[in-house]
Amino acid sequence: MYRALSVLTAAAVLGAVVVAQQPPPAQGGGGRGRGRGIAIQPGQECPPGTTLVRVGVCQAPEFPAPSIVDYRPRTTLVVSEHPVPRAKFPVVDIHSHTGPTPQTLDQLLKEMDALNIRVLNNLSGGYGPELKQKVDYIRSTKYADRFTVFANGVDGFRDVAPGYGQKAAAQLEADVKAGAIGLKLFKQTGMDQVKRDGTRLKISDPELAPLWDAAGRLNIPVIIHTAEPQEFFSPLDLDNERWLELALFADRRQFLNPHKVTFEQLIAERNDLFRKHPKTRFIAAHFGWHANNLGLAATLLDEHPNVVLEIAAIIYDLGRQPRAAHDFFVKYQDRVLFGKDTYAPTEFPTSWRVLESRDEYFDYFRGYHAFWKMYGMGLPDPVLRKFYNQNALRVTPGIPKITGS
Ligand SMILES: [Zn+2]
Repeated sequence: MYRALSVLTAAAVLGAVVVAQQPPPAQGGGGRGRGRGIAIQPGQECPPGTTLVRVGVCQAPEFPAPSIVDYRPRTTLVVSEHPVPRAKFPVVDIHSHTGPTPQTLDQLLKEMDALNIRVLNNLSGGYGPELKQKVDYIRSTKYADRFTVFANGVDGFRDVAPGYGQKAAAQLEADVKAGAIGLKLFKQTGMDQVKRDGTRLKISDPELAPLWDAAGRLNIPVIIHTAEPQEFFSPLDLDNERWLELALFADRRQFLNPHKVTFEQLIAERNDLFRKHPKTRFIAAHFGWHANNLGLAATLLDEHPNVVLEIAAIIYDLGRQPRAAHDFFVKYQDRVLFGKDTYAPTEFPTSWRVLESRDEYFDYFRGYHAFWKMYGMGLPDPVLRKFYNQNALRVTPGIPKITGS
């Protein structure tokens, strides 16, 4: 304490950061590590490589700090655990990219039954012959009530020019006749894709209006992936909550987006689309990327009655605010759907546990998404039923009826 105070006084006198390097105490001394403090002024941050050890004093560890990739401390917290290997009620996974093939059908069904996934909805249906082939295969099995497919527009929304919207609307009508039960838009559409005139295609571009109107007329939902997590649009500095993910995957660095488009711009364009097409039902994928700001998610739902949310790849945001997330799900229990995105049987139980249990401080499955721990929301049964399957059935009439739910 003496040393810290003298350092602080010195800092105050000099009006600058003072480095008080002292030789380590003799072997066996009780004060190991003391006395290497770096004083900072109120409001100042500790210099790189140091951490706050007392009020106004930073210190560097005696050993080289491990990288965030390697530091995986075991927890000593002993608390009751309630793993949830199987969802409590039958689940519609509205956001999957997996569908059955003759090679995978049996294994897939075994896994889905163990997890209590009743319907797996493949958003990567394509269009035209590709889509028809996927639907026809599903219908040729005994499991047409377990797998469904969404269509993807025409040609990945490349080179949009006058006439595209009409063409895409006609294709959607044909795809729905062939068995598609919804329309999925990938994230490139509205963010990276350029029109034939070389400008970025905005998701609210009037050229696409016939497509949204067709979806409304055909009574199918549009699941739309707009933007990316907010931090993907921030510079890759040490304050960035998604530093590791951005350092791992070059294609996620939206702060380098060639169109210099911001998160806020993309969200505004998406909301404009929702507003202009009130008769079309939209599913905002990944919670509209508002799971880290439930106030924004609430505003989105309040202002757009034609919109619902699904939770693919955002469970790590719900699991770090279990009480706020619980209250949101209770209030908006008719507006939330289950989705997972990556089909990985070992990962689903973490989602069930966040949603169903009241467990505390347990691991998420991917360190690069979330280096923090999960907590259970403990959702009540009526809310879980709606969230797991009833809302999906209402929003997507093409989902096969579920018995015993
Ligand atoms: Zn996806």
